[in-house]
Order: sequence, then structure tokens, then C-alpha cells
Amino acid sequence: MIAKLLIANRGEIACRIIKTATAMGIDTVAVYSDVDKHARHVKLATAAVRIGPAPATQSYLRIDKLIQAALQTGADAIHPGYGFLSENPDFVDAANNAGLIFVGPSADAIRAMGLKDAAKQRMADAGVPVVPGYHGTDQDAKSLKTHADKVGYPLLIKARSGGGGKGMRFVTAGDEFNDHLASAVREAENAFGDPVVLLERYIPSPRHIEVQVFGDSHGNVVHMFERDCTLQRRHQKVIEEAPAPGMSDEVRTAMTDAAITAAKAIDYTSAGTIEFIVDGSAGLRSDCFWFMEMNTRLQVEHPVTENITGIDLVEWQIRVAAGEPLPLQQAEIKLHGHSLETRLYAEDPAADFLPVAGTLHHVDFPKNVRVDTGVESGDEITPFYDPLIAKIITFAKDRRAAIQAMSSALSNTHIAGTTTNLGFLSALVVHEEFESAKMDTGLIERHSDALLPRVTDTPVDRLLACVVLAGLYNWNDKTGWRLWGEASVRVKLCVSQGPSQSQSQGYGERESCNPSNCVHRISFAPNGTVRLLLGEHDDTRAQETSAQTGDVMDANVETGASASCASNGRADASLTLQSINDHEITFTVDGERRRVRYAKWAHPVTGDRHLSLKTAQQTHTYHVRNPLVADQRAQSSTNTVTAPMTGVIRLVHPVAGTKVKAGAALLVLEAMKME
Ligand code: ADP
Repeated sequence: MIAKLLIANRGEIACRIIKTATAMGIDTVAVYSDVDKHARHVKLATAAVRIGPAPATQSYLRIDKLIQAALQTGADAIHPGYGFLSENPDFVDAANNAGLIFVGPSADAIRAMGLKDAAKQRMADAGVPVVPGYHGTDQDAKSLKTHADKVGYPLLIKARSGGGGKGMRFVTAGDEFNDHLASAVREAENAFGDPVVLLERYIPSPRHIEVQVFGDSHGNVVHMFERDCTLQRRHQKVIEEAPAPGMSDEVRTAMTDAAITAAKAIDYTSAGTIEFIVDGSAGLRSDCFWFMEMNTRLQVEHPVTENITGIDLVEWQIRVAAGEPLPLQQAEIKLHGHSLETRLYAEDPAADFLPVAGTLHHVDFPKNVRVDTGVESGDEITPFYDPLIAKIITFAKDRRAAIQAMSSALSNTHIAGTTTNLGFLSALVVHEEFESAKMDTGLIERHSDALLPRVTDTPVDRLLACVVLAGLYNWNDKTGWRLWGEASVRVKLCVSQGPSQSQSQGYGERESCNPSNCVHRISFAPNGTVRLLLGEHDDTRAQETSAQTGDVMDANVETGASASCASNGRADASLTLQSINDHEITFTVDGERRRVRYAKWAHPVTGDRHLSLKTAQQTHTYHVRNPLVADQRAQSSTNTVTAPMTGVIRLVHPVAGTKVKAGAALLVLEAMKME
């Protein structure tokens, strides 16, 4: 029996585990670092314990602190979630030695699968097909080259301790091998303290298909079908789905049999995943899949399996950890429907997906679909941890309907305050090759241009921005002296996908600013009329827009009154407002009714105004500088190095006075696990 469970994790997965534990009547203990003091997982748990400062090495990776937190709160079990210590056998040993139940596999099983080379050998011995290659102990560069020539090109060099694609190199031909080997070894040594590599034949048109397995302490092992995680970017999963498109009963049986053999070979207990690389060049075949590695934990993408089987994997983990047998036999586990998961990240697709830290001023998730998240409006994405905002999960009777549901769910998601990959995901789920399941792991890279969202705000978007921004000002404002004339505010609307960290700090600017459309004037006449002058500094293109009812346009703009505004110039910028509430504007354009989500906020230091507008496919962030501080910023811009994001300076190379060559590295900035 488990009565109190400590969750040694944070973010969405901590919240996810708390949800099931609570439903089972189990008390929960959250742990938090200083930056997570007010995080959602802390609020949801029955109790919470501080375990240290923000860096994970001083908090979420501290085995001693976690065990101490469990003992001090009287917890009898620890769930590790994924990431952090979830696959660290020493953590399992420490928990067991302290008399605590570890909700996961045994330390031995984790060790058996911990190193890719040993795991492959063990699987090959058990009769599981493994990717042809070399995974021996001879690490001499010359011998490795000889082995590589035997394996054939293209091939992959992989770090045996690798994860997250680190220490992995793609080698197209023999003459590149030595350089790639040297750099893979260097990276592996740095990242994992282990330079040992293995060589693998590169599988053409690769698809990543994995099987969910589950074992108990009574010797039972079942599978819960497969997940397709082929849509990846730099070996990181972006969209996952279950079942795999194009899977036949015959291939499914072959793959799930192999997965069960693999799990049984190491007496596996709890939830685990056997990852296979599949040659999809001629459809799925029962002789064209090979074991890559086993993840000995709950996977990020477990919700899609929960949807197609109706099983709560966390509940099973807790029951099995408490010594119960598996709740269902293999024959009782049925597959129905189709499920998709997209990973919503705080990252900037336009800047090579650089992670973005910042405040989530407003988050609005779709209703009627499963959203696993660890954040709420007002929370921060800090540079200390993975910048995952949420997993959006849809479930429908078939793949087409699940895609449709995902597309609509993404349209109904609005994240204001940081740049996200939302537009990229929206484009990806409706991409023709994904829709028709003609996919391999290179799909995203091949189509990256088409998938990168453009910042294309329409005149209607700009007009809406002015209407909402007008609500920030009113004629009774004491700014500026006037005698009967109009109070007017000149706004420079710069549009971007979202404010980068530097903008939200007020340091720099990366917006796309088309001079012909970015300076506007909003004026407030004494009679309450608001006039919007779009593109005012370019006289030939200037157009005047008046809003008829002052009420709606002043500070009461949010009370839900309705009014209309029409442009006297071009008709494309004319709209009729229907209603405005806190985060939504309804209006009609050309007789068509539309709804746009918005959120606005002021920067606490600079006073700059930000407005985020979410149309169906795009998020535009408009930025209105506070004119009172703009000048100071302009002056300080020379000789200043602006970091693209918050991070830690790891290394400063030259000392003051040193002469440096153009192109020389000056410092190393580390943020979100990247340098
Ligand atoms: P990591 O543990 O670093 O994530 P994996 O071994 O799990 O590395 O591989 C990550 C991804 O790299 C896979 O999902 C797949 O897309 C690709 N990959 C790995 N091995 C091969 C291979 N032999 N041929 C083709 N692609 C591969």
C-alpha cells in the first residue's frame, strides 16, 4: 500500500502524477527549487518541500535532498517522472536503502539498459533484432574506422551513454569518418563523461516506432501497442501518435513480440518503452525494424497510449510498485481510436528553435481536449529547465479526425508573453506529407521553410491592435497639455511572433517593422470619438479610421459594449466590433464573424506596452514603446552586448586589454542545456 507519494520532479509530469495519485486517494508531496516556489505542481500537491536553488544539479538532481524530503514528510514511495533522476539506478538504490518504494523498474533493469552498447548486446543475445553495426569495446580510432568500413555508409556514430541526440554524428562517407568520430567523442566526453561510442548502419527513410511495455513483480509482462514518434527535429520528438499509421496486424505482432522478449530478458517491472528504428522505404515490414534502446521510465508521450487503451499508466505504475499484479491480461487490453500529441515549447522557430525564457502573461488552452501542463497565466519559463509549456493531446475515432481535432485545438490555444512553436505546430499538423502519413524522421528538416510561420499581419490585425491599444489610453489621461484639442498617442506597432526574452526585458528588439505600416496615431476627441490613423508618417498611404462610439474605445473597452469602426481609406481595414471581453474580441469583416484572442500587458520596468493577438494560425505580438524611456535606450546601445536570452556565462575568454581577431569566441553562454 502506498499512502503518501513524493514526486521527484516538476512541471507538467509532476502535475500529471499528482492528478492520478489524488484520484487514488494517495497524499502527494511536491518538491521545488527556489524558482518553482509558486509553481502549479506545488499548489496541486498535499505538501511541498524546498530542495534547493534553481540549478537542477543543486535541487532536482540531489538524491540526498529528495530522500530526506520523503523521510521528513512520511512519504512511503517516490515517483521520479521522466528526465532528471528517473533513469538513475543509484537513485533507486538510495530510495530502497531508505526503506522507500521506487515507483519504477529495479536498479538492475535500469543498469542493463543504461548503456546503448551493452543493451544492444543483451538484446541481440535474447533474439531481438538490433541495428547492424559495431558495439564492441575496441575504441581505437583506426579499428573503429575499419569497423565503419565494414558496416558501410551512411552510418551513425552514437555515444553509448548518449541521450537527446548528443554525441551522435551522421557520416555519409568514409573520408569524413575520422573528423566526425573525434567530435562525437569530444561531445560525449563533455556531456556524459564517457567517450565510448558505437557505430550503427543508418536506416534509410527511418521511422521511429516504439512499443509501450509493462511488467509486474509476479513475472507478467504485457504490451500496450505502439507509438509512432517519427516527427522529430534534431532527434527530438515533436509530434507523437498511436497507433502507427500503416501498421498491419502482422508487423504489430512481430514488433510487440520483440518488445516483450526484450522486457522479459531483463525481468522488467513498471512502465517501459522499447524504441525501434524502422525502415519505412517500402511500407512497414516484419523484417525491417531494429531495437535502438529501451527507456526505463514513463515517457513524455505516454498520454497517446492512455487514450487508445483507456489505461491510466501512472495508476498501473503505482499499483505495480505496491506489489499488485497487472490489472489486466494481454487479451483484455484493446486498441481503439487514434491519438496525437504535440509538444508546445517556449522556443523561437525563426531563430533555429532557440529556447525562450520569459513570463507567460496569458495562457489559454483549448477546451475539450487533454492538455498536460505545469503552468498557468503569470508563470515564468526560466532558463533552468526544459521549456515545455504543455502537451496537447487529441483523441478521435480515426487519424484524420484526430488531426482535425489537433488543428482546431492549436487554433484555440493562445500563449502570450513568450515566443512559442505554436505556429510551427499548426503548420506541421496540416502538412500534406504528415496528413497522408508519408513520413520519415527527415520530414521537418526537408520542409523547414514551409513550416516556419511568417509574420504576416493583415490590416485587419493592425486595426484590431489599435482598437485594443486604444483601451489603454483615454482622453482624460493627464499626459500632455491640451486645450480642447484631441489627445493623441502615437504608437509604433512592431509586429513579431512574440517578444523575445530581450524585448520583454526591454533591452533590444528583433521585431519585423515595416515602416509603412508600423507607426500609427490614436487620437481621442473630446466628444469621445477615437480616430485611428494607420501608417501616419507616410502621407501617401495614410488612411484615417474613426471609431464611432467613444465608450468602447476608452478604458471601458473591456466591458463588453459594442461599436463599429470603419476605415475611410482602404476597405480591407474595416471591421465591425461585436464585443470585447477580457481576452477575446468578436467582430465582423465583410459579413464574416470572427473571433480573435488577445492579451495585453505593460513591462514593469520600461512601461512598454505589449499586445498579443492570436488569430487562427498566428500569434502576433505588438510592441508599443514607452516614449519616455526610449531615448535612454537608444543611447546605451553602442558597445553593449545583448544576450539573446537569459543564461549563465560559463566562460569569458579574453582578459581586458587583449587584442582579439574578428570571429574569435569571447564568451560562452549556457542556457536551457545548450551552449
Ligand atoms: P538518443 O538516445 O540520443 O535520443 P537514439 O538512439 O534514441 O538517441 O536516436 C534518436 C533518433 O535518431 C531516433 O529516434 C531516430 O530518429 C534517429 N536514429 C537513431 N538511430 C538510427 C539509425 N540507425 N538509422 C536512422 N536513424 C536513426
